[in-house]
Amino acid sequence: MTSAIAQEAVQPCPECGTEIRGDSRFTVWCAACDWNVDPGEPQPHPGRLERAERALARRHGEQLLAEMLSGHDARPRRDASAVAATALALTVHGITLAFAAGGVWCLVAGWGGVGIVAGLVLLALAWMLAPRVGRLPDDLTVLLRGDAPELFTLADEVAEAVGTRSVDAIAVDGSINAAVTTYGLRGRRLLMLGMPLWEVLTPEERIALLGHELAHYANGDTRNGLVVGTAIRTLSVWHHILQPLPHPTGLEIIVNALYVLPRLLIGGLLVLLVRLTSRAGTRAEYLADRLAARTASTQAAVGLMDRLLITDSLDLRLRTEANRAALGGPRSTRKATDRADELWGTLTTYTATIPEHEYERQRRAGARRGHQVDTTHPPTHLRRACLLAGRPETAAVVPQAHRTELIATELAAARTEVARRLLRGGL
Ligand SMILES: [Zn+2]
Ligand SMILES: [Zn+2]
Repeated sequence: MTSAIAQEAVQPCPECGTEIRGDSRFTVWCAACDWNVDPGEPQPHPGRLERAERALARRHGEQLLAEMLSGHDARPRRDASAVAATALALTVHGITLAFAAGGVWCLVAGWGGVGIVAGLVLLALAWMLAPRVGRLPDDLTVLLRGDAPELFTLADEVAEAVGTRSVDAIAVDGSINAAVTTYGLRGRRLLMLGMPLWEVLTPEERIALLGHELAHYANGDTRNGLVVGTAIRTLSVWHHILQPLPHPTGLEIIVNALYVLPRLLIGGLLVLLVRLTSRAGTRAEYLADRLAARTASTQAAVGLMDRLLITDSLDLRLRTEANRAALGGPRSTRKATDRADELWGTLTTYTATIPEHEYERQRRAGARRGHQVDTTHPPTHLRRACLLAGRPETAAVVPQAHRTELIATELAAARTEVARRLLRGGL
């Protein structure tokens, strides 16, 4: 299959003269001298906070890799920074509570109407700032146990292998990623599963992905994240409220001037919270990778890292297909399931035919510019190195062909729905 699709190109390296054999569908580069290994400009990331998060995850990624490799104290731990972050987060929520209490007090006091108005304003503000309990997404396909018994059984086995309780719901979206979170007052567990990522993984790599995600519960990352995470949301609301008014006149200029300092302070607090939690978060990612290797084998976990390295290429591929769909073709005459099958087929064929030299280029380019899955994960090439440096693990959970098929059937409707969204140009 590879040879039918690959288009071989041979040329001498303009830098060192070594003969380069490549696939013309991909970047031509030289393995001898790294010529053209990273032709794309690094993508600038929007937002100060996001840039700070990424930079910290990179720095801590390198520091912690050395620590992880030395082998001592590889357990999740709450250090002084984590305690400080929790204290800061609780203070933020304490201020919200004070607003609510103040609001009630004003309402009760009354003061001939003034208190009523002030009280209502304070209560409205407290309501906006109050921490929110997570909810099940209502715009995505959400699978409960009864909808996908085999998928949940697999999740259960993985959960047991990493030593935690399984998930209560699985939401399927169009991202090339996966994540875990909680919902409801009782802290039920939700796995967010990106269909494009799931599709391009082998059954072993899917188990590694589930292992990594469920490990975040096992290590208590989501519990710690909840207190700090809700405080970050509260601070972001403050940051938004204190936004300077556009085209200010007269009094508004004074209001804007009064906003400057508090807004700077809020911005500083946000960066501080990220700083305090980044190191523990990065450690958690390495530990989750380690548990993923124990669940699905080191080989499968490393395979997962390789797939994560090409997420940008997959993203581009999906956009291209969406553009093609938008540009025409008799879309209504063909069944949605056919168009979905075609999209997923294109994506998996593309992934299966990516040659090893392109993976190697992505690894080297990733090492240069620091490829990260998202703002909180350490650089992918470091995660890969960490897995390879550890003791090779064998799989605790192995895929079974009949189950893989049943899971595909359970996911069929979600698969079509996500493809429909992707072809419309949304995630
Ligand atoms: Zn060269
Ligand atoms: Zn993770």
